[in-house]
Amino acid sequence: MTTNNWLTFSIKRLAFIFAWGIFSASSFAAQTLEIAGTFIPPGTSKNLTLEVAAGESDPATFIPVTVINGKNDGTVLATVAGVHGYEYISILATEKWAETLSPESISGALIIVRLAHIPAFEERSVYVNPHDRKNLNRSFPGSISGTQTERIAHAISTHIVANADFLIDLHSGDGAEWLAPFVGAYGGPLASDYEQAMDVATHFGFPNIVTYEMKTQQQVDTERSLNRQGVAAGIPTILVEIGENASKDETLVNRLVTGLNNTLVRLSMLPKETSPHSNETQLNHFVGTTSVPVDVSGIWYPRHVTGREIVEGEILGEIKDYFGKIVRTVRAPASGYALYGLAGLPVKQGESVMTIALKDTP
Ligand SMILES: [Zn+2]
Repeated sequence: MTTNNWLTFSIKRLAFIFAWGIFSASSFAAQTLEIAGTFIPPGTSKNLTLEVAAGESDPATFIPVTVINGKNDGTVLATVAGVHGYEYISILATEKWAETLSPESISGALIIVRLAHIPAFEERSVYVNPHDRKNLNRSFPGSISGTQTERIAHAISTHIVANADFLIDLHSGDGAEWLAPFVGAYGGPLASDYEQAMDVATHFGFPNIVTYEMKTQQQVDTERSLNRQGVAAGIPTILVEIGENASKDETLVNRLVTGLNNTLVRLSMLPKETSPHSNETQLNHFVGTTSVPVDVSGIWYPRHVTGREIVEGEILGEIKDYFGKIVRTVRAPASGYALYGLAGLPVKQGESVMTIALKDTP
């Protein structure tokens, strides 16, 4: 947290402990959380509905949140699933994971956003909100007077990220995307506690680790993602990606649950002896990614749709026009690891067909 955020939070916390001392015989020293006016004392859990009011041109919505506040003090970890409503592994894993946890079993507190983007989920909308056609993951910190996507972003920034000490943003490949599981850790001069973020990332149990270096304020601010909202709020942040194209595969769900439990152990929220086995042992480290934008719309025929090493210049696929003629042969602009991309068929001018993780600083 930034000093200012920490101060505000501490004042809020102290005020409540003071009130608690007057009105209760109990004298808990652990923190009480306040989320949008709801108080969650230590040793309790609560399901709460974060209301997002109607805007000028689009309806009200809500965000389902579960808060589990442990009896003992510790890290406040926020996890956010379903920023993209068509990415199901994170939503399923969150539901399964939350059932196994209780205020008795953890130290610190968990703020679990079970499904951040309900309108996109209900409309099965890939990438964007069905009302304003904005991508929630490009809309932070949001605005209370903005369109629906911006109001959802504002609620998450204000009530979730601002109350957390550590943020995990959970994603998959979206509709018509393939993806190799990876964890991104935010580093560079503008990120906070990269060491802790990297420690969690490397113990998560996924094979691919990408460091995103935040060097300029423009990087943090331009089309700000939820991850970069974590960076802006001054908390260590990781991005977790597993699954593709609306997959509900139970093996992938379980890998994500294991990773989340590994995180609780690394953050001393669960005792070490409860540590699950890692999913993977071999780690591939990358620094940053590059995209492969194309300059024509049409029908995309990728050569491969799985994570793999690629070399600069190799053919990634072809784009055909709507009469079956090849109009572009797309080649890798750099060597690296093919992390995720479009599985086809559609591709639009300006879209990236693949994201390549880079082995060295670009
Ligand atoms: Zn996503």
